[in-house]
Amino acid sequence: MPIVVQKYGGSSVADVEKIRKVARRVKDKRDAGYQVVVVVSAMGDTTDELLALAKQVSPDPARRELDMLLTCGERISMALLSMALQEMDVPAISFTGSQSGIITNDAHAQARIVEVRPYRIHDELARGKVVIVAGYQGVSYKKEVTTLGRGGSDTTAVALAAALEAEACEIYSDVDGIFSADPRVVPDARKLESLSYDEMQELASAGAKVLNAQAVEWAKSRGIAILARTAHAQGSGTLVRELTAPTDTRVKGVTSDAELAVLAAGKEVPLPELLEFLDARGVRGRSLGFDGLPGGAGHAYLLVPLADIHGPEALRKELATRFSGAVSWREELGTVTCVGVGLNADWAPLRQALAAAEELGAQVHAAHTSPLQLTLLVEKPHLKPLTARLHRELLGS
Ligand code: ASP
Ligand code: MG
Repeated sequence: MPIVVQKYGGSSVADVEKIRKVARRVKDKRDAGYQVVVVVSAMGDTTDELLALAKQVSPDPARRELDMLLTCGERISMALLSMALQEMDVPAISFTGSQSGIITNDAHAQARIVEVRPYRIHDELARGKVVIVAGYQGVSYKKEVTTLGRGGSDTTAVALAAALEAEACEIYSDVDGIFSADPRVVPDARKLESLSYDEMQELASAGAKVLNAQAVEWAKSRGIAILARTAHAQGSGTLVRELTAPTDTRVKGVTSDAELAVLAAGKEVPLPELLEFLDARGVRGRSLGFDGLPGGAGHAYLLVPLADIHGPEALRKELATRFSGAVSWREELGTVTCVGVGLNADWAPLRQALAAAEELGAQVHAAHTSPLQLTLLVEKPHLKPLTARLHRELLGS
């Protein structure tokens, strides 16, 4: 029997009624002749609530303890979904990440999966059970419980789909797939029928919250096609897979990211020392620009995602002490990114983007292009208008 992995996001399991709905969907799939593995996120805003709870106790909580706390969210959903299935006479069993054989490195709060040993899952599937796995978590070689970074349940699903050689990996959420922009910001954003891994990776790392970037990386390296679709209806969703034919439109989507800090280092800061400092604290960067040209400013700037930094105040203070105030930390800026193949084939898209920013009165603090994306760094109040404007100009309406 073919195996299918289905992942349900936090909003799809937000309350008991929704959990029952998910159970019915899972039952339908099983009745259709599949072995079903279900990956669940924490109910609704549980993860944020647990984080807030931790922050009440410590402004900079130990990452190990944070992982012990945050993994509870997914355990609640997995047990409830298993109970709901059993109520429908569907044999089911729930497993934590550790029980599922999800082995990670020991980078607490943003661990990476290094191996999957799904022996217990195979055994239970063979017994005819639906297996429910708590997303977003694993266990390190040292037997420590870890989490995979925010939105990490997607990664659990893709990694399991690969390890189980599943026929499909379906990611369910509130929206029917991936859109050319956030429909709340751009009302005429369109649903994309398909997207390449590379395009999806760019969108995910530029702030689009639809699929986790590490999950797409996994999918790409293992050739797992991801179907992103809604949990509420029968939409066709969006297929993320290897690009087979060149696409007609250059720009696929526009997204913005407001959850980042911009670190700017003056000339006097040795870049390797700054990077070592950040690595030692598990602070990852989205991108880095360095101007060491003759006559250049000698500045470096880094975009750092805030989601996985759990003690920003402490980090800022340490940074100020260590580099005598020569590294600034700014949270008033964000990025708008256009994603598509061949975006730097000529300068036209960047010219258009810069002109649009100027017309909106948005000062561009930095710009970056690559074959797959162009990014402008602007002040946060400009993010939404600029996103809408670039969507209109580069994708038409
Ligand atoms: N519950 C975790 C989060 O909110 C993981 C996930 O939803 O994928 O980040
Ligand atoms: Mg969540």
